[in-house]
Amino acid sequence: VQALLARADAQRSLGAFLSLDAEGALAAARAADAALAAGDAPVLAGVPIAHKDIFVTKDQPSTAGSKMLAGYRSPFDATVVARLKAAGTVTLGKLNCDEFAMGSANENSAYGAVHNPWDTTRVPGGSSGGSAAAVAARLVAAATGTDTGGSIRQPSSFCGITGIKPTYGVCSRYGMIAFASSLDQAGPMARSAEDCALLLSAMSGFDERDATSAERPPQDYHAQMLAARDGASAARPLEGLRIGLPREFFPEALSADVAAAVRGALAELEKLGATLVDVSLPRTELSIPVYYIIAPAEASSNLSRFDGVKFGHRAAEYTDLLDMYKKTRAEGFGPEVKRRIMIGTYVLSHGYYDAYYLQAQKLRRMIADDFQAAFRDCDLIAGPVAPTVAWQLGEQGDPLQAYLADIFTLPASLAGLPGMSVPAGTGAHGMPVGLQLIGNYFDEGRLLHAAHALQ
Ligand code: GLN
Repeated sequence: VQALLARADAQRSLGAFLSLDAEGALAAARAADAALAAGDAPVLAGVPIAHKDIFVTKDQPSTAGSKMLAGYRSPFDATVVARLKAAGTVTLGKLNCDEFAMGSANENSAYGAVHNPWDTTRVPGGSSGGSAAAVAARLVAAATGTDTGGSIRQPSSFCGITGIKPTYGVCSRYGMIAFASSLDQAGPMARSAEDCALLLSAMSGFDERDATSAERPPQDYHAQMLAARDGASAARPLEGLRIGLPREFFPEALSADVAAAVRGALAELEKLGATLVDVSLPRTELSIPVYYIIAPAEASSNLSRFDGVKFGHRAAEYTDLLDMYKKTRAEGFGPEVKRRIMIGTYVLSHGYYDAYYLQAQKLRRMIADDFQAAFRDCDLIAGPVAPTVAWQLGEQGDPLQAYLADIFTLPASLAGLPGMSVPAGTGAHGMPVGLQLIGNYFDEGRLLHAAHALQ
């Protein structure tokens, strides 16, 4: 832990950490040492991790990457944080992210950009950019992330690590600062599917404090990952596994380097015994307008709590209550957050609700139905995570361009399905490319099994 704290300090220019908790980490490491010596250590005793700053923590600041929460201290730990602590992990600190998890490059953080460790002139992806960079730069063994429309999978892809967004409801959202509640889901980002499986087992499970938490018994994802398939051999561990390739995930516009890396990984999966089948997700393109109506709508409601009264930033000078609200929110929120609050408020307003929000909800259902039709012909779905490798810092000025690049991650988010990013080699400029694997509801074990076989 001492070595990692020194390393994090030396790598400060990456911008991955927003805060370090040296004292807390060393105390947790000593406790883990004692438990290991006594022979009653929890499963992840001493494993150094860090949390995306969207999870609230009692002992460290929680900012959500926003000026609105500068200096904010939570009176409690998020369930995911508490469970990983109970499993013995040592938390080094809190990780940079896009403001309220809105973004795809970590450039929307009020605390500055994160640099991709593979090429520091490039973005790490987002919104869990600090998490991906910290794992890729070996500042921590693993990190937590959250994924609303791709924020675990896309930065994992851009930084060459493994990340899984579980089925909606698998990880508790209690203490996760809300962006779009019907989509937000936590998950682990690590060096391998095996590490992800161990972390996911510790951080997941029913929580009565989250009304959307799935009521299921605790899962051992590591055991599920290792479970042999009927008829499979050591050489062909994926024998009998049908992997669907949606034709919409391989459009003409997909950059050639990404397509080649993904095809390479698919060929490996075939060698391991899997069968590739053609499937279709006909509403893939519609997932962009659908997501960018539903997510801002929910955000506009969730972010109304930041009013300068209950917590966080409050304008220093104001005339009356309304003026205080206005000045606080004008000062506290960055441009992308304001843009989404305005879009969300618009699509929910009288006269536009039916035209936009209701239509988006109907299409969301149809997108989920399309997946169920595809899963009649396959067990897992595969494709790229993102249409390109990580771009240059400051290169993408137009928010609409960033929205369009979410095309391959949004469908699984809207359907609530589990998805992961697995390293699939490199593309242009020697930058990493991720293979996306999507499973049916609660099929994380099978996803991890396939990813593990590939690694
Ligand atoms: N890039 C998407 C957005 O900006 C997804 C973000 C996320 O998953 N938190 O909303």
